[in-house]
Amino acid sequence: MSARIIDGKTIAADLRGKTADSVHRLRRDRGIVPGIAVVLVGDNPASEVYVRTKSKAVAEAGMRAFDHKLPASTGESELIALISHLNADEEVNGILVQLPLPKQIDAQKIIAAIDPSKDVDGFHPLNAGRLASGLPALVPCTPMGCVLLAKSVHESLAGLAAVVIGRSNIVGKPVAQLLLAENATVTVAHSKTNDLPAVCRSADLLVAAIGRAEMVRGDWIKPGATVIDVGINRVPGEGGKSRIVGDVAYAEAMQSAGAVTPVPGGVGPMTIACLLLNTLRAACAQKGLPAPKV
Ligand code: NAP
Repeated sequence: MSARIIDGKTIAADLRGKTADSVHRLRRDRGIVPGIAVVLVGDNPASEVYVRTKSKAVAEAGMRAFDHKLPASTGESELIALISHLNADEEVNGILVQLPLPKQIDAQKIIAAIDPSKDVDGFHPLNAGRLASGLPALVPCTPMGCVLLAKSVHESLAGLAAVVIGRSNIVGKPVAQLLLAENATVTVAHSKTNDLPAVCRSADLLVAAIGRAEMVRGDWIKPGATVIDVGINRVPGEGGKSRIVGDVAYAEAMQSAGAVTPVPGGVGPMTIACLLLNTLRAACAQKGLPAPKV
C-alpha cells in the first residue's frame, strides 16, 4: 500500500492566503501594515535565494519587507548596531537575521540582541524559554510548520507516540516542545541514541531533523505512521547535476508509512508561510491587538 503524500505546498498556500486576508483587514480597519526586516550578511548563494523567496512572499502577503544586505566583512558590533536601530523602528514588526553568519560574528549574541517581541524566527532565549514553559511565545517557523502538517493528518496529536530525531535549537527541540504542548508523548533522539531504528519503530509520528540524506529507512517506520521529513540534503543526481533529498528514504517510506511529507514540497514551503504568520502575530501584539484569526 502506498502512503498518503502530505502536500506542504497546498497547505502552505492556504495558510499564506489566510494570513494575507488578515493583513488586508488590519490595513483596512486599522491602517496597520506589518513589516519585516530581513538581514543578510555575506554572499552565501543558498541564503541569497532563500532571502529573495522570503521577500517575495512578504510582498504577496501585503506586508512590507525591509531588506538589509551587508558585506561578509561586517563586524559583530556593526550588526548589533543595525539590530538596535531595527528594534526601535516602529515600522519594523519582525526581524530576521539569516543564518549562518560569517565566522567573526557570534550568532547567539545577535539573536539575543533582537527585541523578543520582534523575534519572528522564535530563536531568542526568552521565546525559547516561554515555549518550554507553556507560555505564549513567538515559535520557530519550521517546527510550527511540522506540527501544522502533522495536524493536517491527525485531528488531534494527543496521546500519539512522537519521536523527533534531532535536538537542535532551531528544529528538534522546539518541535519536541510543540508536540508536548499538543499532548503527544515525545521522545527526542540524537546521535548518541542507542538502537535508533527500534526507537523510530515505536513512533506513531516520526519527525526527522537530522541533516543526513535518506538515513531513515522504510523498516524504521511503524506501519501506518505519519512521517514529517525536515531534512534538506543535496546529493549527486543524473547528468552531473545535484538533487535535493530529505532525511527519510522517501520511496521506502511510501511503502510503510500512512502519510509522508515529500522533499521538496513538504516542510520547506511551511517555513515561509509560518514566518508570515509570525510577523502578523508580532505586529498585532505590538499594537495591543488580539491575536489574528488565521
Ligand atoms: P543540526 O543543527 O545539524 O542538528 C542535527 C541533529 O541531528 C543533531 O541533534 C544531531 O545529534 C542529530 N544527528 C546527526 N546525526 C545523527 C545520527 N547519525 N543519528 C541520530 N541523530 C543524528 O541540524 P538542524 O539545523 O536541526 O537541521 C536538520 C535538517 O533540517 C537539515 O537537513 C536542515 O537543512 C534541515 N532544515 C530544513 C528546514 C526547512 O525549512 N525545511 C529548516 C531548517 C533546517 P547531536 O545533537 O547528538 O549532534
